[in-house]
Amino acid sequence: MTVPRRHRLAVPELIARKRDGGALTEAEIRALVSGFMDGSVTDYQMSAFAMAVYFRGMTFEETVAMTLAMRDSGKVVDLSHLNAPTVDKHSTGGVGDKVSICLAPMVAACGVAVPMMCGRGLGHTGGTLDKLEAIPGFQVDPSVRQFRAQLRKLGCAIIGQTESLAPADKRLYALRDVTGTVESVPLITSSILSKKLAEGIDALVLDVKAGRGAFMKTESDARELARSLVKVGRLAGMQVSALLTDMNSPIGYTIGNGIETAEALEVLHGDGPDDLLEITLALGSEMLRAAGLARTGADAARQLRETIRSGSAARKMKEVVAAQGGDARVVDEPDRMKLGRQRQTITARSKGFVGSIDPLELGHVSIALGAGRRRADDSVDPSAGIRLHVKVGDEVQAGEPLATLYSSKKALITSSAERAIDSFTMRKSRPKRVNRIIGAIRR
Ligand code: URA
Repeated sequence: MTVPRRHRLAVPELIARKRDGGALTEAEIRALVSGFMDGSVTDYQMSAFAMAVYFRGMTFEETVAMTLAMRDSGKVVDLSHLNAPTVDKHSTGGVGDKVSICLAPMVAACGVAVPMMCGRGLGHTGGTLDKLEAIPGFQVDPSVRQFRAQLRKLGCAIIGQTESLAPADKRLYALRDVTGTVESVPLITSSILSKKLAEGIDALVLDVKAGRGAFMKTESDARELARSLVKVGRLAGMQVSALLTDMNSPIGYTIGNGIETAEALEVLHGDGPDDLLEITLALGSEMLRAAGLARTGADAARQLRETIRSGSAARKMKEVVAAQGGDARVVDEPDRMKLGRQRQTITARSKGFVGSIDPLELGHVSIALGAGRRRADDSVDPSAGIRLHVKVGDEVQAGEPLATLYSSKKALITSSAERAIDSFTMRKSRPKRVNRIIGAIRR
């Protein structure tokens, strides 16, 4: 779309209008985004605009316009060569969230084409790309041509956001990350959806996390984000549904890169932890229903469980890992994933029931052990992480193990151990079991 010249000249006025609570037109938003890409809108102007949106919000129409303008800042992949419905899943980020690694092959083994585009660790949360790169040789950045060919052959590819897909989002996200403007519902909505629309999928299933280990701390904030994602996604022409899931304790028993990948691969052999399987089946059911391959949740869950029982999900994952250059032996032998040579087991100070395990604190501990980044250009230690020995509700005696910390550097373990112990709280009575799935937004 050509941008009328007057819109290019009015950037301060557009920022001021948003600052004062006004709305921008679609043409103005497109002008802003294309100016940001060609350099005529500066980083400081775009940051000021993001801050104005943070305080004043956007209408649904503005959010749709922002989403489409960012989608159109790069390539839009054409997946029409596939003879299968295409569905992706996106999580808003959590601690111990390795769901994509088991979900993608299970859903693909049911006949859905799964072009899964994943991110790196962000803040205290881990990223699927970092986890998969812990598999020796695994490549997450195939060209668009290879991506399309792998999807046609295997029905599944797991990749990172390339330079060519929604580059305006990538640049804006980098500014938001350092200007206190990440936690804005319209900005998160347009950021997530622009990438997913550029990927060329038919449908998207969202895992919107709520709780201490999530970006949305309360259920009502998570619900607002989920509603925005579903409504804007539909207005932008994509079928979107969202599950709200609890993020008040780490998912499964592991936090870190290699250690989480190993745990997710165990799910494919029927050995994964209950809460990880619960979330995987719930999201997988949404994906199968979005693809029109299951009518009910029960039917979808049966098909997904069958991929584990028959071994088809594990076979699919071996093909995907091999196609992306990785050592496919890890799929059947997850113990091959290397864990840090330095280890320390932390133990309970008193007896009782585990009342809570703080995911935010343990997310930070795992970064301190080397599993995450403090700066964007830091490298991650694939062997660093945490293995929990208990879950919320378990009874422990004083001195019993709570978790083992792994790192390649002893000093990092020594300096993290106290913080890790403080992440566990004990109580006298057994707490109620919490369901991971707390809601669904489908319209
Ligand atoms: N994830 C994204 O992709 N974008 C956001 O803005 C927040 C989380």
